[in-house]
Amino acid sequence: MKLVETTRRHWQPLRTDIVSKFNALWSNPELGNMEFAASGILCDWLEEHDFKVERGVCGLPTAFRAEAGEGGPAIALLAEYDALPGTDNAAVAHRSGTGRAAGHACGHNLIGPANCGAAIAAALAAREAGLAGRVVVLGTPSEEIVWGKIAMLGLGAFEGIDAILTSHGDYQNGAISRPCQSVMNGEIVFLGESGHGGGTRRRNALDAAELAVQSLERLRAHHFPDASLEHVLRVAGHIPNVTPDEARLWFTARHADFERAKAVFDFAIGVAGQAAEMTGVAFRHQFIAGTRGYLPNDTLAQALHSALELVGPPRWTGEGRDFMRALAKACRPEGDFTLDDGIRLHTEGLDPYGQDDGEASWRIPLGRVNWAFPEQVPLHNWALTALSGHEASHPGPLMASEALAIAAVRLLADPAVIETAKAELTGRVGGKALGEPAFGALETMRHRPGSFWNASWVE
Ligand SMILES: [Zn+2]
Repeated sequence: MKLVETTRRHWQPLRTDIVSKFNALWSNPELGNMEFAASGILCDWLEEHDFKVERGVCGLPTAFRAEAGEGGPAIALLAEYDALPGTDNAAVAHRSGTGRAAGHACGHNLIGPANCGAAIAAALAAREAGLAGRVVVLGTPSEEIVWGKIAMLGLGAFEGIDAILTSHGDYQNGAISRPCQSVMNGEIVFLGESGHGGGTRRRNALDAAELAVQSLERLRAHHFPDASLEHVLRVAGHIPNVTPDEARLWFTARHADFERAKAVFDFAIGVAGQAAEMTGVAFRHQFIAGTRGYLPNDTLAQALHSALELVGPPRWTGEGRDFMRALAKACRPEGDFTLDDGIRLHTEGLDPYGQDDGEASWRIPLGRVNWAFPEQVPLHNWALTALSGHEASHPGPLMASEALAIAAVRLLADPAVIETAKAELTGRVGGKALGEPAFGALETMRHRPGSFWNASWVE
């Protein structure tokens, strides 16, 4: 219990800093691989607390690796800090955004500071207690396109890490040991020929893209009824009287099983190729990244659950609840207001989303804490941007931060738990060959990430 007290004593004074960084990141939402301000703020903060920080690790300008302590084991906390396009909003209980700018609609402005705060407290407590081992922070950009951690895994940034701890907002409080979807993600570029839209119909890139979309959804329903394919058309022409000479179809395949997600993805590229052929346009596929869903780890989930029980559920204020109630009403006028205010260990079910730390969880034991948002406020919606900029959202990630710090220190004090977690991972993977982490777009993300986001990238 002494270790827990020491850790909490170090965590408490960091609370103000954590909250100020929640707000600093929220006020300046940055898209994936362009999180220059956010990663800088977190690196500076870690350096102030004697972490050795390597900025721009793996040649990725907004990635970093920070370390405190000596020897093994090494516990890594993951910092995420990217925003989502088209989800801007003020921190108010009604829609005020343009839908054209970026916003923190997944609350990653909360994850980076909460997890870094946990690492700082854990490092201070471990030093005071004279524990061997290292606390590491991996600054992982561009989570929203499931890219950053995949690239960093492939480029060696996770080397020497024995266990990973992280957190995310969701609709429940507690440690998570359940799978989520695997994701494959790429963009197809159709290239035709422009001309007067009123004249002879030329090789129309938009025709190819639309034909591909229609065929894909119909065929997916037959061949892969248990998978999902989502898409956007990022480039689809400018004006009806100029035949579009370029169309860009960005699509994502999801399935619980990674091999199945890859099969859907390959199928989609094949169909797109046929659509291009039928319409006489050229076609190119640019791979972004793919990730496995979470590999559950009961050992680490149990370690986190026991830390969460000491910390207790999020301490929402009356004003905070009022704000969330108003936001819930704005999103679902007919619905009730439901907010999980307990703590449980979640082991059942399958989460509908995919995240890039899923791939890491198959290679290094990973434990995750979730905190709850109101059920009526959808993730990736303007309302979540509003919430993550309001103090009503702070108690959840603060709970996670303190619990992560306690769990990290306990793991350093009792490395046998890490060995058990590793053995559990080995047992669950069952000798399956995982292959290299799947990602593309490296040159784009290193040198011209803006071209990715304005849909002009060529890899
Ligand atoms: Zn997220």
